[in-house]
Amino acid sequence: MNSSSEHGLACVGGIAAYQWIFTGDVKGSATLNQRCSICDRDDLSVMFQVRTAASDAISEICETCLGKGAVALQPGGSILRGHELRHQLGQMCMRVMLRTCKDVLRELLANTNDSKLPEVAVYFDRNAQLSPRHAATLFLILSNAGSNVDARIFQVQLRKTEHQQEFGRLLQPEKLALWPVLSPAIRTRLATLGFAPTPDVVQRSRGINSNSGRHVAVDQRSYDLRM
Ligand SMILES: [Zn+2]
Repeated sequence: MNSSSEHGLACVGGIAAYQWIFTGDVKGSATLNQRCSICDRDDLSVMFQVRTAASDAISEICETCLGKGAVALQPGGSILRGHELRHQLGQMCMRVMLRTCKDVLRELLANTNDSKLPEVAVYFDRNAQLSPRHAATLFLILSNAGSNVDARIFQVQLRKTEHQQEFGRLLQPEKLALWPVLSPAIRTRLATLGFAPTPDVVQRSRGINSNSGRHVAVDQRSYDLRM
């Protein structure tokens, strides 16, 4: 972790806070491999480029670290902090990840001939999420293409009963494609319903890394989200 002085630690109203100016550049990663210069996490999907108000030094920082500070989202703009800042950053992250997912789908459509893929892309365009069936289709296509895209960038609809039932109707290989990217809570729920992949299959899936690292389809993309 970097020392606070390197990053313009300022005192605002008696409370220590980072003061940053957002440069407008924000990077989305389809492989979840970006590193934050403050907290050192290296599995991040979205990274914001900022300057320190004090020294003009450029840093790339995650949403969480930036959300703890005081930030001007545009040069000369008002300084945001607290709930308002975190809300704005959350909205920007959602937009960046949406574009990242669409870029992945666009590149797959251009480079693979799978007849089920256009339907998946249309569904994602309309819903900004994937149903279990569409997610399984996409994740198997990614895997077969040797892509190193991390499937966790796509949100899968599994909160509603209808989607949990849809998961239950998937074939074992389809369930297996989805299982590694699901949250522990969702896995528990599906297991309670009797929908988990069979035990020996789950055992084998623990060794599966959704990030195969063979061929890069999409890695990091920069987007300009100047406000
Ligand atoms: Zn961080």
